[in-house]
Amino acid sequence: MFELAKQRLEPIFKYIEVDEEVIKRLSVSKRAIIASIPVRMDDGSLKVFTGYRVQYDDTRGPTKGGIRFHPRVNLDEVTSLSFWMTVKCAVAGLPFGGAKGGVMVNPKELSKMELERLSRGYIRAFADVVGESRDIPAPDVYTNSTIMGWMADEYGMISRRQVPAVITGKPVHLGGSEGRESATGQGALYALNEYIRRTGGNPSEMTIAVQGFGNAGYNFARLAQREGYRVMAVSDSAGGIYSTVNLNIEDIYRFKQEQSQLASVYCDGSVCNLLEFENVSNEELLTLDVDILVLAAMENQITQLNAREIKAKTVLEIANGPVTPQADEVLEENGIMVIPDVLANSGGVVVSYFEWVQNRSGLYWEEEEVNQKLQKIMSKEANVVYDLALKHECSLRTSAYIHGVERLAGAIVERGNKRFFSKESHKA
Ligand code: NAD
Repeated sequence: MFELAKQRLEPIFKYIEVDEEVIKRLSVSKRAIIASIPVRMDDGSLKVFTGYRVQYDDTRGPTKGGIRFHPRVNLDEVTSLSFWMTVKCAVAGLPFGGAKGGVMVNPKELSKMELERLSRGYIRAFADVVGESRDIPAPDVYTNSTIMGWMADEYGMISRRQVPAVITGKPVHLGGSEGRESATGQGALYALNEYIRRTGGNPSEMTIAVQGFGNAGYNFARLAQREGYRVMAVSDSAGGIYSTVNLNIEDIYRFKQEQSQLASVYCDGSVCNLLEFENVSNEELLTLDVDILVLAAMENQITQLNAREIKAKTVLEIANGPVTPQADEVLEENGIMVIPDVLANSGGVVVSYFEWVQNRSGLYWEEEEVNQKLQKIMSKEANVVYDLALKHECSLRTSAYIHGVERLAGAIVERGNKRFFSKESHKA
């Protein structure tokens, strides 16, 4: 996966000159740590989980990246995610490098107290390498604000002082930022809106299918619907639902919260009675005839195997790495525009940055102010990416990487490169 992730750099060399030292630096992670996390289970037994933290590059500032709790977490995945975080923070112009963390665990099999012990155990294992000016974790798949609150508390106990800025995505009452919960979905919507505006589209004429109905997918669907887009299908790991009319996202969310998975709203409850529902598998959802396909679940969802079946004209990547490089080529051939992850899902880390700033300054902003600042950054950076794509006649992914790597290269070269330290330059 990491080799595939790095392949994203290659197309940009056709358009811009990148110092060879920058390529060398961006080809490997700065630091990767694997730790055992022993957890006392409710029945008294001991389980040892494997935890990861990869700090990919910190040239532009302390590293930043979420922590994932998932059975398939491994070093390769965490390294790829940390690489994407590095590019993403640069695309958004944040003073952060990239990192990522994870624990190989199925959190749905743990009780709440076991989950708390695991979360606190993760921080004890990595306390020496994280820190408000060093590496700042945040939520990712199957971690949330409650878990971030436990983690910040544990770090405070280890440090024997309050350090809320060590972790972002905390509950608002524990120093979290207003607007963080919906930031990834909101940011993706701002990036999409700019694209639709520039291509002369009208949101109320656009249909959408959303894969993944967690924090990012649900908030995106809810907010997009509020702006007039029509959300026709949503899915989670158990399957999906499709309707020929606009789905009622808030009702579906309420059902999901009550029943804990979308499968439970297939056929009973008021929503099914009111709307004409069809069940769709996750594979089918990807190939629905909608205008915009939103990927908000996991990596590698569109591959060589299904890329030719995609009918949507625009793919919005809210998940990290949901389209493989080979699938990208097929989508491009078929004229399908992909708004890439390193731009589309950066709203989460932008508001995480706002949370970090608020924690460090002690001054807290209202949600309206957070969203205004988020919109300003998302719209500005999205337009730079869209302009670069027009200028170079390349995909939005390539232009986003050009934008991010130019910023990273600036920072790496400013710290001195071969030319700077050569004999020639000493003579001068
Ligand atoms: P989450 O845990 O809140 O939700 C994940 C959702 O995906 C769940 O609804 C789950 O059932 C569903 N899912 C899992 N496997 C699936 C599959 N094979 N098909 C369909 N649905 C599936 O996680 P999240 O925070 O919403 O993150 C989703 C994606 O967005 C991840 O790739 C994450 O890295 C990315 N992301 C999240 C944030 C954030 O702030 N939350 C920021 C940037 C990127």
